[in-house]
Amino acid sequence: MVPAIKLNSGFDMPQVGFGLWKVDGSIASDVVYNAIKAGYRLFDGACDYGNEVECGQGVARAIKEGIVKREELFIVSKLWNTFHDGDRVEPIVRKQLADWGLEYFDLYLIHFPVALEYVDPSVRYPPGWHFDGKSEIRPSKATIQETWTAMESLVEKGLSKSIGVSNFQAQLLYDLLRYAKVRPATLQIEHHPYLVQQNLLNLAKAEGIAVTAYSSFGPASFREFNMEHAQKLQPLLEDPTIKAIGDKYNKDPAQVLLRWATQRGLAIIPKSSREATMKSNLNSLDFDLSEEDIKTISGFDRGIRFNQPTNYFSAENLWIFG
Ligand code: NAD
Repeated sequence: MVPAIKLNSGFDMPQVGFGLWKVDGSIASDVVYNAIKAGYRLFDGACDYGNEVECGQGVARAIKEGIVKREELFIVSKLWNTFHDGDRVEPIVRKQLADWGLEYFDLYLIHFPVALEYVDPSVRYPPGWHFDGKSEIRPSKATIQETWTAMESLVEKGLSKSIGVSNFQAQLLYDLLRYAKVRPATLQIEHHPYLVQQNLLNLAKAEGIAVTAYSSFGPASFREFNMEHAQKLQPLLEDPTIKAIGDKYNKDPAQVLLRWATQRGLAIIPKSSREATMKSNLNSLDFDLSEEDIKTISGFDRGIRFNQPTNYFSAENLWIFG
């Protein structure tokens, strides 16, 4: 049984979930269905992943077959950058809910603190970063306050049980907390041994905001995009020190990296289409790393961020981003 994290909204969030970025639409329904069968209850989706219809089909099949009930699932989705204008938030959430075939999300996040000009879903969906679908970045004037106020009304209307933010740094969190009537329940951030962000974790803890780590294996997720620094860095999953720590507990490097996060109180959302790794990632909670091993892994910190919006603001980087 996966333990739950109590959110400041009063709801329980499973500490281990399943990430849906880069799960191709052609397999997403089966992947979600199999992940539910493997025991996953939290699914981390987004408009930008372009697979919400298919993910919803996997959920519907599992519910229909009686494997799980809707209320046992914890479905997360995210507001894409082009829908930050206050009047665009509710309509796009309603579309995303319809795509999933759901009446409510358990958690809905501002995906990035980056407001871009509206792109009508009939023109292109998901819209991606570029206004013309090629290279043009067009900012919108929406402030985070305007967007957050619209997010708060989602809770009032029952469209999402909890709301939160992603890719926010401390300064933005402080700002948001000044006016938030509904406090963010979670902060989802890139977090792995090369990017620990301990001060941000401390702030979130002090403010009662749960933190979800994404890209827990560091460069692994970004090597396929030919990012130079992701290619050059030692892959954490192959690192001899991480491997040696795993050997002590009879665990693989992925389980060590995931446990390093969960043992420090974070939620995780690894993604894997293979049944074996799906299961081993989910079962990464049944051992405890020693304090010394946790310190050794935290000592990898180099402040290296792979998910950096400014990296995509050029014509050379035309890929849909997580
Ligand atoms: P990940 O760490 O889950 O996966 C990285 C790579 O590792 C993938 O190729 C995967 O197949 C592989 N892998 C998974 N389990 C493994 C194992 N046990 N052994 C060896 N290899 C394994 O990275 P991710 O997809 O970047 O992040 C996870 C989820 O976080 C995403 O699917 C998405 O839901 C979310 N995310 C959110 C944002 C955001 O901006 N909020 C950004 C990136 C990712």
